[in-house]
Amino acid sequence: MKHYIGIDIGGMSVKAGIVNEEGKIICKDICQTFPDKHYSVMVKDMYELCVKILSDAGLRFEDISGVGIGCPGTIYAEKGIITFANNLNFHDTPLVDEFKKYWKGDAVYIENDANCAALGEYLFGSGKGSRNCIFITLGTGVGSGFILDGKIFAGKMGAGAEAGHMVIRIDGEKCTCGRRGCWEAYASATALIRDTQKAMAKNPDSLMHKIAAQYGKVNGRVAFDAAKQNDKAAKQVVKRYIKYIGCGVVNLINIFRPDKVLIGGGISNEGDYFIKLIQRYVNRYHYGGKINPRVKVVRASLLNDAGIIGAASLAMNK
Ligand SMILES: [Zn+2]
Repeated sequence: MKHYIGIDIGGMSVKAGIVNEEGKIICKDICQTFPDKHYSVMVKDMYELCVKILSDAGLRFEDISGVGIGCPGTIYAEKGIITFANNLNFHDTPLVDEFKKYWKGDAVYIENDANCAALGEYLFGSGKGSRNCIFITLGTGVGSGFILDGKIFAGKMGAGAEAGHMVIRIDGEKCTCGRRGCWEAYASATALIRDTQKAMAKNPDSLMHKIAAQYGKVNGRVAFDAAKQNDKAAKQVVKRYIKYIGCGVVNLINIFRPDKVLIGGGISNEGDYFIKLIQRYVNRYHYGGKINPRVKVVRASLLNDAGIIGAASLAMNK
C-alpha cells in the first residue's frame, strides 16, 4: 500500500496527515502558525510536523510516495509558487522549493485548497464515480473547484476557477475583491449572517432573536433554525439565500453540465433539508428543463478531513 502526506495550510494553523492510497488518513496532527511569520519559518514548522507524523505512524521518509500541499489563494502549481494569498501574507512565495530544502524528495505539489478538496471529493468522497464535478464550499467566502475529465481545471497560472466572484447581481453588494454583486457577497455564510441581521432588525417579533440569544450571536444557523419552526421572516431569509446559491449553481451547470455539484463548507452542515432545497431550485431552472440531463446536488462528504485528503490526493493523481 502506498502512502502520501497531505498538508493543509490555514490562516492560523497547518494540518498534516498521512493518507493511504485508498484515501484513508492513518495519522494526523496540527501545529499553530501565524500569518505574520516569514514563510521560511512556517515551512520549517511544516516540515517538522511531517517528521512528527511519520514517527507517530512508524513510517520512514522512504515510505512516502509524494507530498501534496493545499493553500488558500492563487497558486501557480507548475512552479510551486503561491502568487497571492490574501490572509496569509504570501506574495510570489516559492513554497515548494523552500519545502524541498528540508524534504529530500521530488514529488512535492501545491494547489489551491478548494481545488484540492474538489479532487479529494472526486476520488474518495461524494464525487466518486463522476467524470466532471464541481465543488462549492460555503464558508466565510465561496470557494470553488472544478474537476473536468478527472483533472483540476485552474486556468492560467492557477488564477481561474473562482466562481465566488462571478456577478449574480449588477451593482449589488460590495465584494472583498473590489467588484459589486459577486456570488460570494450573497451566498457565503458571511452574507447569510448579514441578511439574517437585516431581517431581525425589521422583525422584532421574529423567533430569530431568541435563537440568536441562545447561540450568543447571530450565526449562519439562526435563520435555518427559526425557519424550521415556521418563523415567517426566517423562512424568507432562507428562501432568498437558497435562491442566491441556486442562481450561481445553475450558472455553473449551464456552462459545464457536470455529473454532480458537491456542496461543502460550514453551511452544508444544515444537511439533507438544505441540499434538497438547492436541488429543487436546480431542477427547476437548469437549462433544458426536462430535456437535458438532470444534475445531482450532493453534500460533500470528507468534511473536516477534506483539506488533508484533498492535498494528499494531489500527489496521488500525478
Ligand atoms: Zn468578488
